[in-house]
Order: sequence, then structure tokens, then C-alpha cells
Amino acid sequence: MAKNVEKLLKKYLLNTSLLSILAVWTTSGFSRPLHNYEIAQTISFAPNFSTATLNICNQRKTPVEYYSTLDSAARYLKPIYTSNSKASHFINSAGKLVIRQKGCFEFLVNLSKYRQSAPSSNRQHHLLTSGLLFWYPNYIDTTAEWMAFRKHHLVQIKTNSTYSLPFTEISEHHFLYPPYLPFMSQSIPIGEFEQVNLEFNHSEKLKARLNFLDPFTKDEQSAITSWISIAISGVNQIADLPSDTIQVNLFKASHYSREVTPFALVERGEGTTISMKVRASATLEQLISDWTAFHEFSHLLLPFIRRQDAWMSEGFASYLQYFAMPYSELSAQHNSDSQSKDKSESAVDAFNDFMGGIDRGIRNHNRHPNKSLQTLSEQLRSTRAYRAVYWWGALIWFEIDLSLREQSTSLPELIDQFNRCCRFHRAMWTATELAKSLDKLIEKPFILQLIQERRHQSDYPKYSLLLNKIGVQDDGNRNIKLVDSDAFNRFFRIYRPSD
Ligand SMILES: [Zn+2]
Repeated sequence: MAKNVEKLLKKYLLNTSLLSILAVWTTSGFSRPLHNYEIAQTISFAPNFSTATLNICNQRKTPVEYYSTLDSAARYLKPIYTSNSKASHFINSAGKLVIRQKGCFEFLVNLSKYRQSAPSSNRQHHLLTSGLLFWYPNYIDTTAEWMAFRKHHLVQIKTNSTYSLPFTEISEHHFLYPPYLPFMSQSIPIGEFEQVNLEFNHSEKLKARLNFLDPFTKDEQSAITSWISIAISGVNQIADLPSDTIQVNLFKASHYSREVTPFALVERGEGTTISMKVRASATLEQLISDWTAFHEFSHLLLPFIRRQDAWMSEGFASYLQYFAMPYSELSAQHNSDSQSKDKSESAVDAFNDFMGGIDRGIRNHNRHPNKSLQTLSEQLRSTRAYRAVYWWGALIWFEIDLSLREQSTSLPELIDQFNRCCRFHRAMWTATELAKSLDKLIEKPFILQLIQERRHQSDYPKYSLLLNKIGVQDDGNRNIKLVDSDAFNRFFRIYRPSD
């Protein structure tokens, strides 16, 4: 492994050798017996995964009504009547599962009836839909209630196969539900595949579970594992990633793919999953030079924002993606004879790449003149004006960041504060709700007003005044000119604290 990358890994990871990364997964002692939980759900899989048995033990005296994140889930559920499980549970017409009595009840889940990804010639695993398996009581309305309840609700998985859940594992095969009310199903890989669990030096709670869902070689797995570790660490250096466990599903991109990662997607709603297609032949250096992973993990610094307001979440990830990339280490890779670039040069490189994005956004917007950011955002699927929306949104976050600096704080600090106090107040946010919540945390609120003005304008924003504030001029040639390096370094220091 190249020296600088190794240094980078050492800086961030709990373990210094890649081999040990491949095996790390600590579990705290599991002392509380199942019956101490208010509700415990055990899911046992049949060997071929065509069915699963769902056992729900309920200690509450009052009836419990459960819902799933998949509306049709009840259709695949059939009560199993045994001497221990009386016939006092049923599935109602709204697809809710109602359990009237204290005690344990069993259901058969018909997994093969629901169209899901099954093993193929080069895949030995199933991708199950989480909504078929997990049921949530709906007597809980508020976040505070859910947070308290979550500790009393246990999920246990019984299978000899490899599987992955985007939930926090409290001991082997025992999980807690996500820290917010779940709202959307995700893919659960189960069967035969390689899995790597990652832990990090700088954050005890932060974990990632990498699932190689196509046949990658050991070397390819090592490179991808290092890359994902560096991406998570780079983003976590900006602000603390709040997810307990991030599930990363990795697929092979076509041999002919020109891009290193031609496809990437963040899924949230029942935990957090990032799915990516990766060119298996890519070297570690090529992977790290690609912005995709840095973009995807940056998304996780904010909660889920509704799709109509894509400019807000995409702008945020686009604004931060280059700032999370380890430029100094990368340039040292490419110029192994020369000294590694100093931190200001590496910051200039990152900012130049950011300006390159802004430039692509402007050119894309020229094809959709007179459309506001909000309109383009809502019509993203039909207009496909991705670059315009992403980079216009990024400019808004840049402006928010600079205004925060005038109040002696910064975007990373505000995001940290928001994630600690308010992130889980809702599972899904609108741009307005998020702006209001952020405004509550600062002395002189301005974010809501700023986004309302900017998102309804139809001209791409002028940004030279913003650049002036950080001592930079745009030379019109996709390269920035530093006119006040102190101002620029002050702005950038927050993104490169440990350089
Ligand atoms: Zn994105």
C-alpha cells in the first residue's frame, strides 16, 4: 500500500493494518434477557430464504397495533397458531397487525411471493425488502417517546448465513431500531457474500458495514475498504456523522465503465444505506480521487430532506464533497519525489474543484433559463438539470456558511449543534422546517429568509461578492486567484483542522 494512504488510514482507523480492519467487530456484553424487553421480535429464516418466522413477544397489557414501512406487508404475513400462541392476533384491512394480548405470537412471512432480488449465476445472496420483516408499534407519536421506547424494543435475527441490517448491533445478532420513526423500506442482503465491519478512532459510535454483493477479489475489497474508511473519516472531520451504523452495499460496475463509481445512492427511512457501483479495477488512488463517496457520506451529516427540496440536500453534499477529500495526501501520491503540498495549496485545490462545479452548474442552468431553483428541483426527474440544482444549492450553503462566520460560528459547527439537539425531531424534513430549526440555534436568524429569496429567483446567483469575503477572485478561467490568503485560510481552517 502506498505510504501516504497508509498514513491516512492510521490517522483515522482504530486499527493500523488493513488485515485487522477486515475482522473487527466488537460487541458489548449482552446481559439483558429477552423477556426484559417490552417488545422483542425474533426473525428466523428458512435455509432457502423463501420464508421467515416472525416471533413477537409483547409484555404490554394493552393491545398493540403495529405498522410496517411497506404498505402491502400484511399480505405476506400469516398467523401461526400453536399452543403457546393463541388466536387473539389478527391483521386488519388497513394492513396493520393487531396483538390483543400479552405473550408471544408467531407469523409466517412469505418472502418468495414478494418480488425481490434472488441469487443469480454470480450472486449467492438475496436482497430482501426490510418492510416485510420489521413491525413498529404505532402507539408512539413523539420522538421523545420513540427514543425511550427504542431501548425497550429488541430485534433478534436467527440464521447461519451472512446478513446485514442498517441497525445498531448491541450484541451478536441483537439490534435496536433506528433513532427515528422508520418510514421507508431498504434492502437487506442475506446469503453468501463478503462483509467487512469498520470502526473508527475518532468516534466510538460510528460504524460501517460494507457488503460486497458482487464477487470482488480480496485486493479489490481491500482498496474499496480503505477508500470508504477515508471517505467516512474525511466527512466526519467536518462534523460528527450521527448514524450509528451505516450500511454500504457495493456492486461491480461494468468493465466498460469510464467512471470509477457510475452509480451511487443514499437510502434512508429504516436506517441508512449507501449503495454504490464501483469499477473493480480502480486503484486506491483512483478511488480516493473520485468525489462520489465524499459526496454520499456528506449527505449523512443532514437528516433526510423531502425530494422536492433536493437542492437543499444535494447542494449541501456538493458544497462539502471536495472539502472532505484528502488533497494533500493525494498530491503526495502523484508527486512522490516532491514534498507533499502544504495545507494552503491543498485548500486551493479543493476550492478550485468547488468552483469547477459552480461553473458546470451555470452552464447547465443556461439550458433551462427563467426557471427558479425550486422549480428545477421539483422537476428534477423530467428536466434532469442535476448540475444546475446541485451547484446552485451549493452556492446557497456557501453563502449560509459565510454569513455564519460573521456571527462567529460556521456551517460545520451549526450542523454539529443541530445534530445533537434536533436532528431526530422528525424523520423527514422540508427545506423550510430545516431552515427554521437551524435559525433557532443562531443569535441572528437569517437562514429561512435567505433560502426563501434564493430558491425562488430564476437567475443563477452572482457569487463574486462571496468570493471577495474569503480573499479570492475568480480569474474567469476556472482557476481562483488568492488576493488575501489570510482570509482564505481562516475560511478553510474549519474544513482542515488536522492538516
Ligand atoms: Zn447527492
